[in-house]
Amino acid sequence: MITFVGAGPGAEDLITVRGQRFLQDADLVVYAGSLVNPGLLSMCRKDCEIYNSAVMTLEEVLDVMTAGYREGKRIVRLHTGDPCLYGAIREQMDALEDQGIPYEVCPGVSSFSGAAAALGAEYTLPGISQSVVITRMAGRTPVPEKESIAAFAAHQATMVIFLSTGMLKKLSEELIRGGYPADTPAAIVYKATWPEEKVLRCTVDALEETARREGVTRTALIIVGRILGEEYERSKLYDPSYTTVFRKASHPEIRSRDAENTGESKKSDKEDKQ
Ligand code: SAH
Repeated sequence: MITFVGAGPGAEDLITVRGQRFLQDADLVVYAGSLVNPGLLSMCRKDCEIYNSAVMTLEEVLDVMTAGYREGKRIVRLHTGDPCLYGAIREQMDALEDQGIPYEVCPGVSSFSGAAAALGAEYTLPGISQSVVITRMAGRTPVPEKESIAAFAAHQATMVIFLSTGMLKKLSEELIRGGYPADTPAAIVYKATWPEEKVLRCTVDALEETARREGVTRTALIIVGRILGEEYERSKLYDPSYTTVFRKASHPEIRSRDAENTGESKKSDKEDKQ
């Protein structure tokens, strides 16, 4: 079996318990050396074979994994964050499938979660934004025109922008061209959850200048949106005047108003009585 494992965003103890077990049991590990914390490899057995995919091609990675599989080895392909984002795992899974080799995926904590934690941010604030756009600037990998930064910026939803730290001037221009006011709050989170993490808050028009001042050129996420500002509405879920499936509103008159408005209370009342 070959397991694609999410290594988490950086801190060694942010791999999942399941991912850690796979690493401890592995006979062979291929890790993405450009971003995976090498400290994680100390969880591997002394006799585990270890390869750094940063210096390998897709073909070389596949050769190592398929040869290992045929020798009956337990193999871990260790990707940074969660492998489902910019992980280039589909091409590996398809190649394994073609050869009839079974695989599975063990999810990880993505850096976009690590960055939110570093910022103390909630990406989905009532009254501000209820959506998160995860995207990147076009680089050597093109981005479909319909998914341009400006097209997404028109929604003014929260944006988390990967792989774009080297293009911040263009990024600001695109965000503003799309509709974000220049003074919209933004942040650059460098190496979220690593010991050298930096959290830089600024505005959309000041991304490049802020990164330059702090010497940040790579391994960062850009977060944009009014969720980084001061205003928002409190949640309905924990509002005393709202009835939910699990909790009745505190005031009976409000409860009956809810029943009229949503038709939900009847159901909740019934469930509460059970
Ligand atoms: N699968 C990974 C993303 C891989 S793409 C994940 O889920 O996080 C690599 C890009 O992710 C980097 O260029 C950077 O933009 C971002 N990144 C990865 N780890 C990061 C971290 N600890 N802090 C900030 N950005 C990070």
